[in-house]
Amino acid sequence: MVTALLLLITWGGLAYRQSRLVTASLLTAAILALGTLLGEVGPLVWLLFAVVAAVLNLPALRHGLLSRPLFKVYKGLMPEMSRTEKEAIEAGTTWWEAELFRGKPNWQTLHNYPRPRLSEEEQAFMDGPVETVCRMTNDWEVTHERADLSPEVWAYLKEHKFFAMIIKKEYGGLEFSAYAQSRVLQKLCSTSAVLASTVGVPNSLGPGELLQHYGTKEQKDHYLPRLARGEEIPCFALTSPEAGSDAGAIPDYGVVCLSEWQGKEVLGMRITWNKRYITLAPVATVLGLAFKLRDPERLLGGEEELGITCALIPTSTPGVNIGRRHFPLNVPFQNGPTQGKDVFVPIDTIIGGQEMAGQGWRMLVECLSVGRGITLPSNGTAGSRVSALASGAYSRIRRQFKLPIGRMEGIEEPLARLGGNAYLSDAASMLTVTGIDLGEKPSVISAIVKYHLTDRSQRSIIDAMDIHGGKGICMGPNNYLARGYQGAPIAITVEGANILTRSMIIYGQGAIRCHPYVLAEMLSVQEPDAKKALAQFDRALFGHLGFALGNFARSAWFGLTGARLSPAPVKDATARYYRQMNRLSANLGLLSDLAMATLGGELKRKERLSARLGDILSQLYLVSATLKRFNDEGRPAEVLPLVHWACQDGLYRAQVALVELLDNFPARGLGRVLKLLLMPFGAPLKRPSDRLDHQVARLLQTPGLARNSLAGDLYLTAEEGNPLGMLEQALTDILRAEPVFDKATRAVGRRPFTMLDQLAEEALAAGAISQEEAALLTAAEASRLRTINVDDFDPLELVVNKASFDDSMLNKAA
Ligand SMILES: Cc1cc2nc3c(=O)[nH]c(=O)nc-3n(C[C@H](O)[C@H](O)[C@H](O)COP(=O)(O)OP(=O)(O)OC[C@H]3O[C@@H](n4cnc5c(N)ncnc54)[C@H](O)[C@@H]3O)c2cc1C
Repeated sequence: MVTALLLLITWGGLAYRQSRLVTASLLTAAILALGTLLGEVGPLVWLLFAVVAAVLNLPALRHGLLSRPLFKVYKGLMPEMSRTEKEAIEAGTTWWEAELFRGKPNWQTLHNYPRPRLSEEEQAFMDGPVETVCRMTNDWEVTHERADLSPEVWAYLKEHKFFAMIIKKEYGGLEFSAYAQSRVLQKLCSTSAVLASTVGVPNSLGPGELLQHYGTKEQKDHYLPRLARGEEIPCFALTSPEAGSDAGAIPDYGVVCLSEWQGKEVLGMRITWNKRYITLAPVATVLGLAFKLRDPERLLGGEEELGITCALIPTSTPGVNIGRRHFPLNVPFQNGPTQGKDVFVPIDTIIGGQEMAGQGWRMLVECLSVGRGITLPSNGTAGSRVSALASGAYSRIRRQFKLPIGRMEGIEEPLARLGGNAYLSDAASMLTVTGIDLGEKPSVISAIVKYHLTDRSQRSIIDAMDIHGGKGICMGPNNYLARGYQGAPIAITVEGANILTRSMIIYGQGAIRCHPYVLAEMLSVQEPDAKKALAQFDRALFGHLGFALGNFARSAWFGLTGARLSPAPVKDATARYYRQMNRLSANLGLLSDLAMATLGGELKRKERLSARLGDILSQLYLVSATLKRFNDEGRPAEVLPLVHWACQDGLYRAQVALVELLDNFPARGLGRVLKLLLMPFGAPLKRPSDRLDHQVARLLQTPGLARNSLAGDLYLTAEEGNPLGMLEQALTDILRAEPVFDKATRAVGRRPFTMLDQLAEEALAAGAISQEEAALLTAAEASRLRTINVDDFDPLELVVNKASFDDSMLNKAA
């Protein structure tokens, strides 16, 4: 009995620590020796131990008896991986999310990543050109009157190299860090989504990025300086009417042939395409085009079907059709279709030249992760932050039932969501760009932040609209929400539509890329050298078994103890979040292995299961980013309610995904047993309490460090044409006038919350307040009225076809 108990505890401990096989064998032998002394272990047990230990520890025996037969079975089960799948899986790198996937995150690693900072040059750009272009842009004029940025803004953007943030200095670009790009885009987005999209797209996946990675010297020398100076406007066209999410299925094609070009016969391609939704296409001077290339006459000397290829085509080329526009949800950035039929271009228009023919898909997936981690997550973060700040200020200023609406519990609930989402989104943006600036191309993380930050932004803007009521709905130059509300689905759709990103990409790539052994197992099948393949498979398989046993032991132990004894890098009130993440991380590792073992390749089609596994990974990433930000910023107590809210909400969402996953586990019985193992005392985590909601709601309505932490680097200058800045000013005016208001109301004997200018006059006449104090009250009243009032229009102003309006008026009069 003693020996059995000792063995059980030791094996549990060894599995928990994921110890090596040889260590486990030696400790087992030591316990068996003790058992022999106690008279509990006989020769039969020793014989059994000797056989098992020899098979497991001696490579020759293990290979022959275990790994070889298992490798045969595995090879039979594994479906052939296509080139496209292989390229997609191998694209990019893994980073912090891999640590979260592996069941034992090292928190010190997270805390040691550098805090992102702007260089002097980047800060100067933020304070100079970015501030200026925000001031120059009037979003109402852009979205309602012009359906475009003004010519002055276009010229300013080109002149100051806004389109060249990713282009290297040697080509005349700005070569900014990913962090700087993110801050620039957030500031632009707080002024105008059209401005942010126009600048964001050329700095994301497009000709600039592709040329720098794959362009020939001639292409780089020709295009990059011109793009940097704004002499070329690029766009990139992949999407076709028949191929949206399934972009690999584009029907657009090119055929290699010889034809006349500028008076000479040259090798080239005749390309036919029909693309839509292409940002900047209507005004582009150079068109990045993806199409499938064929070489029926084998003029390039290779295969007939070469596959997806990317070329750069001047839009002045005869046959290139651009200019028409789509109208994306009243956020009219330049976006439209392009077509061409049998357009001939020389072969050296292929990005990277002739040898990159057919390499287009690899180029796209390799480059996608960087832009996807910056542009849309930045826009989403800005949307969440603007929604939070505006709703906080408005809730403090707007009164109903003699109270600021922000004091009402019903309003506190969405306000708390807004505050928590904004803090977390900014934190996740910062951590992601930190990874990119460290040289990572984090394909899984970029999918996580693309999905979650745009999703949270859309939900935030809905909350903000609900809080603002009619003020949010009535459009006009003073509305700072409605265009964001209208345009939210754009960010949801582009660069991997969100449902697809959640259901297929996050976990689909994450499971294979972040798992320490699965990819190695899969790649062993492709290894042509049989000996090497077996050794590779053996290493991966036994590592995998140790990993799975480790996550099993850790999950069981954390379930029993509530993870209270697990390590955390801090001792304060946030320590419990690290511990809960230790637990959820082990659960994720375990469930991942079980889902893959029970479903195999079928897991790819079980999208709802893989979406929930991806949700657990995503929430772990978002919560860890929140804690990292809090740590980087010196752990200020004032922002703790925001941190608590974001962590509790994120962990609760991870738990919901876990419970739903177990409730819907394909092997029902196994799901029930696992639930008992992982949560023996029921689901332990709760959503943020009403009390915490109240604290966060108060922070949003009160100027101070916590509120400032949501406002940093947004464009909040109080001036005509910037209603968000004017709202912030109104909050300051009202709070500054509060002590004067108290004095004045005591003097006049009543507490009116309207007509503060009249109150000022009465109190001044009664000698209760000074002239300066009266001015404060009067300014507060002007700000209050500006905040609660909405725009109205002459009926004619709203009619596009003014002639028809006049006619109908005449008819009515008649
Ligand atoms: C304003 C705007 C700008 C754009 N800019 C560009 C550009 O510059 N260049 C360019 O090439 N493209 C651009 N796009 C295209 C964009 O990337 C595509 O719209 C996007 O890939 C989705 O394609 P789709 O709209 O045809 O949706 P569909 O592919 O038809 O998808 C419809 C729905 O099905 C879901 N879905 C699809 N497959 C799956 C799956 N396997 N599992 C679960 N759900 C799934 C999607 O999530 C979506 O909700 C732009 C689009 C818009 C709207």
